[in-house]
Amino acid sequence: MSPVRGGDPLEVLGRTFGYTQFRGAQQAIIEHVTGGGDALVLMPTGGGKSLCYQIPALLREGVGIVVSPLIALMQDQVDALRQLGVRAAFLNSSLAPDAQARTERALLGGELDLLYVAPERLLTERFLALLQRARPSLFAIDEAHCVSQWGHDFRPEYIQLNLLHERWPQVPRIALTATADAPTRNEIVARLDLGQARQFVSSFDRPNIRYRIVEKVQPRRQLLEFLRAEHAGDAGIVYCLSRRKVDETAAFLQREGFAALPYHAGMSAEQRRAHQARFLRDEAVVMVATIAFGMGIDKPDVRFVAHMDLPKSVEAYYQETGRAGRDGQPADAWLCYGLGDVMTLRRIIEQGEADDRFKRVEQHKLNALVGLCETVECRRQVLLNYFGETLPGACGNCDTCLTPVQTWDGTVAAQKAMSCIHRTGQRFGAGHLIDVLLGKQTERIRRLGHDQVSTYGIGRELDADQWRSVYRQLVAAGLVVADIEGYGVLKLCERSRPVLRGEQSVRLRRDPVRDAGRAGRRAA
Ligand code: ADP
Ligand code: ZN
Repeated sequence: MSPVRGGDPLEVLGRTFGYTQFRGAQQAIIEHVTGGGDALVLMPTGGGKSLCYQIPALLREGVGIVVSPLIALMQDQVDALRQLGVRAAFLNSSLAPDAQARTERALLGGELDLLYVAPERLLTERFLALLQRARPSLFAIDEAHCVSQWGHDFRPEYIQLNLLHERWPQVPRIALTATADAPTRNEIVARLDLGQARQFVSSFDRPNIRYRIVEKVQPRRQLLEFLRAEHAGDAGIVYCLSRRKVDETAAFLQREGFAALPYHAGMSAEQRRAHQARFLRDEAVVMVATIAFGMGIDKPDVRFVAHMDLPKSVEAYYQETGRAGRDGQPADAWLCYGLGDVMTLRRIIEQGEADDRFKRVEQHKLNALVGLCETVECRRQVLLNYFGETLPGACGNCDTCLTPVQTWDGTVAAQKAMSCIHRTGQRFGAGHLIDVLLGKQTERIRRLGHDQVSTYGIGRELDADQWRSVYRQLVAAGLVVADIEGYGVLKLCERSRPVLRGEQSVRLRRDPVRDAGRAGRRAA
């Protein structure tokens, strides 16, 4: 008895889904999983992950079990599949008892191709017992980054999902995510026991999205100018950090004539559903939201994503901006960034409940995002570099490409910053390195004898803020590496050498943000 029902992926793609060709790695993934192999799929939002498990589920005998945390979207996903003639159903807490019983009967009767299940439901003994009596053809673990304790979408239930592998070792698993940084990837592999899985890593470039990061001066006015000039009549998302700011910004945009709606976790479920429905249905709704909104939203014609506050990390920025332009048409990612944002986020992290190690990781993720904000290089290159991808040249479709930034010759500063890392043994974070450069007399410096190293006090021409900016920019440029797991230690790398040897010069961004921050502090 072959576990494969027969049929050809391309034929199913055309007959069931109405598409003529596969995108990117879809075909290779589908063949691998249909053949019984485990897979880890990293593909950007909109890349077409769903077909990677839907088609194998149709080709293999039995029912494909899809684990997804996106309960709010299951109904829509299942409805869409049913319209295509796929026998799909879902189980989650929103389902009435009789509908649930019907779905369970269909599962046991072998009448389903695909069953979407919320993780907390899947892990109940009741459901696992049902599944023993059914015939799982594959397990798809969607939004697999939810297993990462360091990520912003952590779901404790995800950690227990390797139980599927223990109970059904012969059933292939496919884990999918649009979060691609190496630590998250490694955590997914370790926690879900996917060491043997083949990894399919797509390019994360979204060439139709134009990235722009502006200095925060008068954020509302800046937002208004951006929307009026470039997005009148468009659908888009405006992200704010707090619920209050969501409400205020939505009211402000309404007064200015936009069809703006608020969305945050402080609103009733009913209201949120209504606003989401309008956003999906209407053409020109501006959704003003906290990050409670957006995960899994499949609206192809979102023309802009604006951030009124700094996201938490590069991953978060990438995810959130990735909701723009899923149809491939030009779209804008606009972020308004000020030093105050960094301070606010640092405070939120520090005052959080998490343990120190978690906080340090969060701080370093934030630093990487700050590096993206400060870069003088192509933003797309920096962004993709963070995900381990190299773009061959500047993109020509981001603000730093389109309007070159004012810079200064930071070669000597970079050499001093790097020498200081070297002289102190590549074991310290920026804070201590800066103290050494400035010739501070801290207890730590005396204890370590760092007042004796040759870089002690050689950096007095810049202040601590400027040195921090230098280090951040060096990290962002990949000229110095930050060890995220290692307490924020800065280290030299292959690319540091030409700078240290004087073979490569370094231009640094003239930091208007810092000056604005100063003005702000003076005013405060
Ligand atoms: P993801 O889950 O990776 O964000 P989806 O699976 O939702 O992406 O796919 C994004 C969109 O692209 C959907 O509208 C989907 O129907 C479409 N799509 C996926 N694969 C193909 C393909 N091979 N040809 C045409 N359209 C596709
Ligand atoms: Zn660029």
